[in-house]
Order: sequence, then structure tokens, then C-alpha cells
Amino acid sequence: MSGSPNTIEKLTLEDARTLLDSGEVSSEDLTRETLDRIGALDGRLGVYCYVNTEGALLAAQQSDHRRAAGEVRSPLDGIPMSLKDVLITEGVRTTCGSRHLEHFVPPFDGTVSRKLAEAGAVLLGKTNCDEFAMGSSTENSAWGPSRNPWNPEYVPGGSSGGSAAAVAARMGVYSLGTDTGGSVRQPASLCGVTGLKPTYGRVSRYGLVAFASSLDQIGPFTRTARDAAYVLQAIAGHDPRDSTSQQIEVPDYVAALDNEGQSLRGLKVGIPREFWGEGLQPEVEQSVKAAIEMLGTMGAELHDITLPHTEYALSTYYIIAPAEASSNLARYDGMKYGYRAPGEMNSIDSMLMTRDFGFGAEVKRRIMLGTYALSAGYYEAFYKKAQQVRTLIAGDYTEAFKEVDVIVGPTSPTVAFRIGEKSDNPLAMYLNDVYTVPANLAGIPGVSIPCGFADGLPIGLQFLGRHFDEVTLLRVAHAYQSNSDWHLHTPDLRVENLT
Ligand code: GLN
Repeated sequence: MSGSPNTIEKLTLEDARTLLDSGEVSSEDLTRETLDRIGALDGRLGVYCYVNTEGALLAAQQSDHRRAAGEVRSPLDGIPMSLKDVLITEGVRTTCGSRHLEHFVPPFDGTVSRKLAEAGAVLLGKTNCDEFAMGSSTENSAWGPSRNPWNPEYVPGGSSGGSAAAVAARMGVYSLGTDTGGSVRQPASLCGVTGLKPTYGRVSRYGLVAFASSLDQIGPFTRTARDAAYVLQAIAGHDPRDSTSQQIEVPDYVAALDNEGQSLRGLKVGIPREFWGEGLQPEVEQSVKAAIEMLGTMGAELHDITLPHTEYALSTYYIIAPAEASSNLARYDGMKYGYRAPGEMNSIDSMLMTRDFGFGAEVKRRIMLGTYALSAGYYEAFYKKAQQVRTLIAGDYTEAFKEVDVIVGPTSPTVAFRIGEKSDNPLAMYLNDVYTVPANLAGIPGVSIPCGFADGLPIGLQFLGRHFDEVTLLRVAHAYQSNSDWHLHTPDLRVENLT
């Protein structure tokens, strides 16, 4: 690949696999070239919080040896990739974007990290994210913000902003992120890449540092829907270590795309009346509507549908997610592991000082919101009520999926916003999640793919599907990508453009 500096910018996972299989390129070449690119660009983009240079080169050499011996483990063998810094990795620092875990080196791998390592993946490093995955812009990381490769003055979205930006900037062929209320789909939308949130229970969360356990899911960022199928194949399935992962057979996602062809004839696509409200940027609305029209010309049947409880989704999410977070984050008290405030003091003062210094402002806000919603006297009015409304929201989707196979709309109400523009206004930040949180509340899968640009910044199209029907989501996304080229656009990342 050296001598063809553009190649890496165009590379999909499938291309990389073909090049590796044909012997045109080695995993070591690919990995070195990507590490060089990270070295050149990351000072400006802040995508990685840890670069695993030696580990990646060793893994690449091992992959090359396997290939030479005819022992390739999977389609992912030898392909360089990254993991969001909330996914724990044996021997590789994992910080969750928090001062609490600044020096935390996990003694074991999470299931997804392990499955990928066993598939032969080359781990380039850990990507930056909002602290404990709380945020929509990656500005809440203790290590500073990540930047959008399409314009470094803009946010990449969040909380998995580093992962989305890494794939957009070709600093790794694919990345894994997590989606509790949109953190795979929204940054995918803002960075112009494909981002898939699988069904709750499809992928094991063992070794994912918990934010809101009834909502969290791990999912891939890739350039194409086909690439997402490869990654999902490698990570999906039951895991006895995560009791919420389901014993449901994992289909062959890639073969399903090959067999289905590109026609959408007979596919029923629902367009929710509630998805075109206040706050939706006109250019986003136009691009998403143009994409929907195209689905129609590709044979899909378009149906107007209603999801009547949509307007309550954000407030419901912003009670349930902080409530669960306040409980999950109780462990960061400086007693067992992680940061501890220095100095001699009693245990209560030590915990108070540790938590005061260790957590950033947004995490503290969530802990306060969550403990308030769970406290005696308020529990019924907030937490219990939110759970009841969650059931109604999930019911909207159950009803809708009796009529249609897939639901379509925008992923995010606007394109990327400027760094600093919303960081002082939590409510404005939360409004970003209006189209993504319902899928987490309902537990259904969703995917975001690029469908246009406004002011040089990408626009995302979201598809939502039935529980465990990732095949239909990937199929419709793949069909759209077979008839459009939005996903092939690449930001101009010559170093001189980044200053
Ligand atoms: N932006 C949402 C939040 O701040 C979602 C985060 C996520 O999915 N991890 O909670």
C-alpha cells in the first residue's frame, strides 16, 4: 500500500480483507500505515486516548504468520480497528474518559474485546468518549474533546465520538462503540459513517463499564452496512457472563445481504408523523425525505405511521438513564480501585473528596438527577412514572411493527454543532437525542447511515427495526448504499487543512 497514499482513505473492511487475502498487502503494512496516519492527524483530532502501537504491530505480525500458514481465523483477521474506552481490554489502559480510571489497566478482556481478539482483530487503541458515555458531543471527556474530521471546529457527536471520528478519518477500518441513548447512531450521523445499535440482548455487555444497564448496547462503526454485518457477526450471541444476552440464534448477516439482492420490493417502511417536529434543521429534513423517496423508487412501500408517546421519550430517558447511572457509579469511591483523593482523612471525607475530584460536571449532574428521582417521596412521581411511560413507548413500536417492517427518519435533528456551542446548556444538549433514545427505551435495533450534507457536514438517516431483526436493517441500509454514494465521501484530511 505504501506509495499509494490514497488507498487507506478509500478502504472498507471488505476491501482490506480482499487485499490481505490476495497478498497485495500485509496486516503489518496496513497497521503501520494506519499508525502513521494516527500519528499525523490525532494531535489535531483528539480521537484516541491511548494508541496501542506495540500491541497492534505484534498482533499484525501474528496475523501475517497465520495467513502464511493458511490459518486465517475470520474475515476480520489482520484488520486494524479501535474500541471505545469504556470496553475493557486486558493489559490495555481503559479510562472511560474519567479521571477516576486514569491509571486503570484491566486484568481481563470483556467478551466483545475477547471475541474480536480471537477473530484476529488488530487493536490500534482506545477511542475517546464522554466520561462514562454520558453526553452527545465527546466534550465531557476528562482528556479533552474529540473533533469532527469534516471540520475540526465542530463536535463529532457523542458519546462514542472518538470511534465515529476514527472511522470517518480512516484512523482504523472500524470501531466499536456503545449506545445507551444514541451514542453509536448520533456520532455516526454527525461524522458521516454507518453506526449500528443492535437489539438489547444481541451482544454481551460483559466487560462494558456500565452506564445505564437496561439501555446499554455495544455496536459497530463502519463505512458500509456490509462491513457492519461482518463486525456484528463476530460479536453477536449469547454469553453466560451476561444474563441479559439472549439465547437466540445468530443469523449469517453477510450471507443475508448477498441473498436478498438490492431490491426493496414488498418491504413496508413506516414514516412516523412525530419525527418531523420542532428543532429539525430544514436541510436535514430535506435530505432525509429525499432518501425516503428513493426507498420508494427502489420498491419499498411507504406508510405513514404514528408513535403517539414519542414526545415523552426524552424526559423518560433522562430519568431512567441517570437513575441507573447513579447506582452504577456508586462503586467509584476510591476504596476498591481507581482514583483516591490523597491525604489522611476519615473514610467519608475520603469518598467525598474522591468523588468530587474524580467526576466531571456532567457525571455529577446525572448522579444528582438520578438519586433525586430514586429518593423516597419522589420515586413514585419520577422513577416509577418513567418506567410506566417506557412501557407505553415500547408499546408504540410493537404496534407499529405489526404494520411495517422498518421505521425511517432522521438520526439527529441537526448536523454537527460547534465545540462549546452547547456545553453550558445541558437541555440543548439533551434535545439532540430526541430521535435516538426511543430505540433504547424499546430495546429495538437501529442503524444510522449517511444521506447528505449541509454546510459540508454529514446528515444521517436512521432505520429502526423489530427486536432481533438486524438483518432487515442491514438489508435496507445496504440497498440504499448500493444506490447512493454519500457513504463514500471522505473528509479532506491533509495535515495543512487541520490547523
Ligand atoms: N447522549 C445520551 C446521553 O447523554 C446518550 C449517551 C449514550 O448513548 N451513551 O445520555
